[in-house]
Amino acid sequence: MSAVIIDGKATSKKLRGEVYEKVAKLGAMGIKAGLAVVIVGDDPASRTYVNNKKKACAECGIYSEEYALSAETTEAELLALIDKLNAKEDINGILVQLPLPKHISEDKVINAIRPDKDVDAFHPQNVGKIMTGDFDFLPCTPAGVMALLEEYGIDVSGKRAAVIGRSNIVGKPQSMLLLHKNATVTICHSRTKDLAKILRESDIIVAAVGKAGFVTGDMVSEGAVVMDVGINRNAEGKLCGDVDYAAVSEKASFITPVPGGVGPMTITMLMKNTLKATCIQNNINLD
Ligand code: NDP
Repeated sequence: MSAVIIDGKATSKKLRGEVYEKVAKLGAMGIKAGLAVVIVGDDPASRTYVNNKKKACAECGIYSEEYALSAETTEAELLALIDKLNAKEDINGILVQLPLPKHISEDKVINAIRPDKDVDAFHPQNVGKIMTGDFDFLPCTPAGVMALLEEYGIDVSGKRAAVIGRSNIVGKPQSMLLLHKNATVTICHSRTKDLAKILRESDIIVAAVGKAGFVTGDMVSEGAVVMDVGINRNAEGKLCGDVDYAAVSEKASFITPVPGGVGPMTITMLMKNTLKATCIQNNINLD
């Protein structure tokens, strides 16, 4: 079998178009959607992500403000900025690019963001809502994976799903979203025994490990759906995922490439969350 390649770029473009239309509807009502993006320090990867987020805002008609702070910024200074943005009327969503420099507590910063402006869905209040299934915002990467499954008509209900990785940003919420869609979910991590056996028994695999070529062809059963969240560099310095793409795409029924799979969807989901935050804050339902 040769897998259908899930096109994250095309799906992203379509969904961003839908966000643009809804943002325009808000505009006609005199309401502007606004996102503040905060970056601390000069990590090149973070800079690229922030630039891409600003570009996506422009594409969706969302007003954006960037706050680029030096690596020496104190925790108190950053918390003061968050307070200011929490109160700022033209800002509906606040995104603090992670990781932060070591001397700043990420937890303290995340906890300081107003939950209804927390478009990354990392605040404990939003995390709790994801657990119960009564959520406003979904974390962007897992939501992007779910949107791709939906776009390609892949029914999750009753399927065995394995998520490799248990981070708060990807693995844990991903598992919960699959569970909400009635999958039977196994969460795998570095202490998991017989990982290959679990993967071979899975209909859907989401890889969020951060290791190039981690999922090999022999770990995947014929016809499995393979979603690759990983962003790594291979030995030649080329961008690649966690999955041995050449081998696994021969066995899978659907597969996401890296780049061009889950990656573009993450930022698109951020745009959707900013639109949702604007609607919530203005008591408007555009769904
Ligand atoms: P973390 O490093 O926080 O988590 C990695 C997870 O992989 C951990 O739970 C770890 O287990 C698990 N793991 C490590 N080694 C093994 C192993 N040998 N067997 C099984 N599990 C293992 O990473 P993130 O969740 O933040 O990110 C994962 C990947 O996704 C990265 O490549 C990252 O760059 C990418 N990413 C991509 C995004 C996108 O937009 N496409 C967005 C966010 C992340 P343990 O908990 O036991 O240590």
